[in-house]
Order: sequence, then C-alpha cells, then structure tokens
Amino acid sequence: MNYKEIPIGIQKRIALIAHDNKKQELLEWARFNQVTLSKHILYATGTTGEILEKELGLKITRFFSGPLGGDQQIGSKIAEGEIDFLIFFWDPLEPLPHDPDVKALLRIAVVWNIPIASNRSTADFLISSPLMDREYKRLVPDYSGYLRRKI
Ligand code: PGA
Repeated sequence: MNYKEIPIGIQKRIALIAHDNKKQELLEWARFNQVTLSKHILYATGTTGEILEKELGLKITRFFSGPLGGDQQIGSKIAEGEIDFLIFFWDPLEPLPHDPDVKALLRIAVVWNIPIASNRSTADFLISSPLMDREYKRLVPDYSGYLRRKI
C-alpha cells in the first residue's frame, strides 16, 4: 500500500464533541487545557460548542447540534482535509438516536488517519504529546487504486 503525507500543522484544527452525559467531563477537561486549546483552531457540534464558548470564552466554529447533522458536518470536514484532530467523548452507556452518525464519524476519522480521543485519559495523552507543538506528517493510504477499481 502506498501512502500520501498530509501535514497536520503546529496549529491543529480540533473538533470537540461530547454527548450530553459527557459534556461536564469535556468541559472540565477543556478548562484544565484552556491555554493549550486557545492556541489551536477549534470546532464543535452545536451544544458542546455553546457550552465551551460560554463557560471558557474559547473561540469556536460551531456546527449543527450532533443529532441534527453536526457529527456528519464534522465528518465531511475531515474528509475534505479541513479538520485534523478529534476529541469526541461519546457515551458508552446510552443508545442515542444518532448512533449511525457517531459510527460514521469515527469511521471517517480512521479512514483519514486523524488522532481521535474518545475518553479523557486518551485526550490527556494526546494534548500533552510533544507533537502538539510540531508539524506532523499524517500518512494516509493512497486511495487512487481504490478509485480506479474495476466494477
Ligand atoms: P451537541 O451534539 O454538541 O449538539 O450536543 C453532540 C452529539 O450528540 O453528537
């Protein structure tokens, strides 16, 4: 398999999402990491973004609320190469109406090899990585063979 290198800049384009039962946890995590987060370009689903803006004064580009299409909007930005980092505290204990969207978002993040934190400890490891202050060459499989496949 061939790979293409896609840079993740020093300034990361980070999407933040938390399901309702996880919003408090994400808020606490973001408060603790507020200074670091403020150096990056932030995106969020509607309600998550509203809370983070109001409570922490972070500048955030907000999409629709997750169940109304926000997860899919973030997924499309990942596919278009406009978001390169995902902090997504999803709820493992409750079925949600937009579970298919959640699965789709996690899948597309893996397709494009972007860092994903689904819980607080992973988010701690990611945000304290030395790579946060450096450019990183993200290796993405060269999908041109797939696009040329015989059907
Ligand atoms: P919300 O969406 O931030 O608008 O609550 C999150 C989600 O449920 O995916």
